[in-house]
Amino acid sequence: MKPCLVCKSENVYQYKKPVEFGGFGGELLPELGPGMFSVASFIPVICSDCGHIRFFASKEARDKLADSDSWKLV
Ligand SMILES: [Zn+2]
Repeated sequence: MKPCLVCKSENVYQYKKPVEFGGFGGELLPELGPGMFSVASFIPVICSDCGHIRFFASKEARDKLADSDSWKLV
């Protein structure tokens, strides 16, 4: 997580628990949610000096990648 990839700051904060995002008519991580009507959760990380934001998919969402027909290994 540290240092920040943009400004190299050590002041990087991670939200303590996974959050869900289902806004703007879409999903941040489509088809990786725990159920048909629930969205996948992720963990936001923010640099307090430059504002750079990163997202990390939850373990639960990552575990679905290998067996998903919608995601391909690149
Ligand atoms: Zn930064």
